[in-house]
Amino acid sequence: MPGGTDQTLRPFLWRAAKLYPDQEIVSRTHQGIERYTYSEYSDRIAQLANALDEYGIERGDRVGTFCWNHHRHFETYFSVPSIGAQLHTINPLLPDEHIQYIVDNADDQLIFVDPSLAPKLADAATDAPEFDGIDFVVMDDRESDALDATPYEAFIDGHGTTYEWPDLDETQPAGMCYTSGTTGNPKGVEYTQKMLWSHTMMTLTPQGLPMEDDDVVMPVVPMFHVNAWGMPFTATAAAAKHVYPGPSPDPKDLAHLIENEGVTITAGVPTVWLGLMEYVENNDIDLSSLDTLVVGGSAAPESMIRWFDNRGVEVLHAWGMTEMSPIGTVAHLKSELEEEDYETQLDHRAKQGLLIPGLEMRVIDENDEEVAWDGEEFGELWVRGPTVTTEYFKRPDATEEDFEDGWLKTGDVVTVDEEGYIKIVDRAKDVIKSGGEWISSVELENAIMAHEGVSEAAVVGVPHEKWQERPVAFVVPTTAAATETLDEEIMDLLRSEYPKWWLPDAIEYLDEIPKTATGKFSKKDIRDQYSDQSLVEATAPEDAAPDNE
Ligand code: ADP
Repeated sequence: MPGGTDQTLRPFLWRAAKLYPDQEIVSRTHQGIERYTYSEYSDRIAQLANALDEYGIERGDRVGTFCWNHHRHFETYFSVPSIGAQLHTINPLLPDEHIQYIVDNADDQLIFVDPSLAPKLADAATDAPEFDGIDFVVMDDRESDALDATPYEAFIDGHGTTYEWPDLDETQPAGMCYTSGTTGNPKGVEYTQKMLWSHTMMTLTPQGLPMEDDDVVMPVVPMFHVNAWGMPFTATAAAAKHVYPGPSPDPKDLAHLIENEGVTITAGVPTVWLGLMEYVENNDIDLSSLDTLVVGGSAAPESMIRWFDNRGVEVLHAWGMTEMSPIGTVAHLKSELEEEDYETQLDHRAKQGLLIPGLEMRVIDENDEEVAWDGEEFGELWVRGPTVTTEYFKRPDATEEDFEDGWLKTGDVVTVDEEGYIKIVDRAKDVIKSGGEWISSVELENAIMAHEGVSEAAVVGVPHEKWQERPVAFVVPTTAAATETLDEEIMDLLRSEYPKWWLPDAIEYLDEIPKTATGKFSKKDIRDQYSDQSLVEATAPEDAAPDNE
């Protein structure tokens, strides 16, 4: 049959090591900055492959990692999938019971763990039958005090620097990641060789997160979170220089890596960049090497895009999901918008953006109809494509709920404008239904957070007898806020922007908004811990529905 070899990761590595043997890989570890070349990388991943063979890892076996972003973790990225095994990156920020569930569900054989995370893994593994028979390798040249583990350097030492990489089928599972599961147990997503190959090629296009061989790429988004948005693979395919910021990097570490290594493109969630912005404001840092800053995972605030624009750094706002390998949209400016004024351009760039090539989408409203692309109507975003999974691992119940005819029902509620830019207005589970109509909790949160006396705000729907649900705002005031007048000020702000029936029935003050393991507001915890029907019963307005406007 015509068509050549299957779509697998191996050729990316082969090309990078052969054509760019001297390209650098830089890594911040607890021992300082370490650096080596693609050529040495290629030798070490062959050593790792030989070591995995000797240990007894076979095709189809799952190998776990419990690690931050560094060169050893990157070695597992190509080595494990290229021998035909499956790399399962475990999020170390999850609660112990989720880690136990995940390790058991995935049936991991061996887990690579960072020295700084070994105590956390030891806690999860102690007296947990889920960990029976699992061995550990600590990402270091010495043993761990916390865990009985072979040091990584001893594990690969003495093994050959060449390996007969097998021809793999593109349907071979190569990676695995669990979504953090804001409700119930985490759900596993498997990435086949073809999904990772496709994601690499799709994100390499100018409409994705393009890179070239003169780029210096620093993924700040953790490598335990959906393969650091695929960047270790993309950067290798582009033969770019890699920079890994290591365990728990703070804004100072990131600023100095950018400056010292000449980082040109980096990626992470908004909170990381808020920290960097504050550090740069107060210190003498040269960001001039930086061309592109990718922001995703949560919405990029417009003020952040402006701040970086003023310093000559292009912000690319991206949206994605674990189920999508993960990049789905990037807010590139269409060429026809290049003549528009800055504010019009910003309106588009601050949205989640345009689908990357290779994907298709629909937006479906409550009546199962596709919504108009007018930037107003909203519905649930459905997507499909070669990078989008069609099932959850060993979870037929969840698969049935979230997939239909090959489409992933993302659970994100969006509008689409005339240009095709999507904007997320809510999670389907968080959208508030009042009198049969939807209220966007995200819009209310953003409006409330724009008040200078507010540092965080989350709005949830509280059940209501007459109106089904009514919004209640949970607000963390800044230390400087004048709390006695804050209620009224927030309500005035909302009144000026939103219809009366959107206004929260109550504003409650908290010291902190509960967060998920990926740093997002956990609406489930807010509902469980704080939301109480009495908050809305007495106060709901008579006209909490659009008809009565
Ligand atoms: P989790 O955080 O639950 O582990 P994911 O990382 O897969 O799972 O999160 C995917 C979800 O994160 C999306 O469905 C969407 O709700 C949210 N998200 C991702 N990127 C953005 C963005 N740029 N703006 C707003 N929300 C985003």
